[in-house]
Amino acid sequence: MKIVRFGRGSWGILEGETIRVTRGPGGSFTGKRIPLSEAKLLPPARPTKIVCVGRNYRKHAQEMGEEVPPEPGLFLKAPNALAPHGASIPYPSFTKSLHYEGELAVVIGRRMRRVPEEKALFHVLGYTCALDLTARDAQKTDLQWIRAKSADGFCPLGPWIETELDPSDLRLRTFVNGEVRQDARTSAMIFSIPFLLAYISSFMTLEPGDVLLTGTPEGVGELRPGDEAAVDIEGIGRLSVRIAPI
Ligand code: MG
Repeated sequence: MKIVRFGRGSWGILEGETIRVTRGPGGSFTGKRIPLSEAKLLPPARPTKIVCVGRNYRKHAQEMGEEVPPEPGLFLKAPNALAPHGASIPYPSFTKSLHYEGELAVVIGRRMRRVPEEKALFHVLGYTCALDLTARDAQKTDLQWIRAKSADGFCPLGPWIETELDPSDLRLRTFVNGEVRQDARTSAMIFSIPFLLAYISSFMTLEPGDVLLTGTPEGVGELRPGDEAAVDIEGIGRLSVRIAPI
């Protein structure tokens, strides 16, 4: 099932081109229906934190000139960074090197605290597409990656959560102005989703709505004002945003 969040914070289930409105994510139906074309989509999660893993694809670590890490290299994005499908995202004045990173995102459904790997997926609500927008220059100069990773709009998420999906081997593509820039499979991840969730929940409680960004494959690169960036993941759909023209 596809869970959408829209309007002023309503939730619903997408059936074809119609949204059946629900009480909360995946909750009971209210009886209301609205056409998808009339709904303004919102990021389909309200996380307390967005946990991200860097260098989770071997070829991306290589293109960055970095070693494959022995343990997951984690960092956070703040919830202010969220942006919906269709958003126009300002190119911040502090950077001259805004990069796209297409990623599979995991949305937590049940609280996770010290959950073993074999039970981790039971706590997942579903999966969606994310862009881990990154100010590559600030990532190199700043002590912490707050500007580089958490500026407003730096985490487009959506368009919806797909709940019926095996995430272990999905084709992930990133497009800039319709041209393919990243094309990989999630089976190339170094650390699997169950491993990452067990690892994170061993020291940090994950709440319903929290989001895990599972890392980007090779092919990262620059975005310019006016560019359209899209992430397309097999079995989910396509998240598309525009970098605002200056
Ligand atoms: Mg990333």
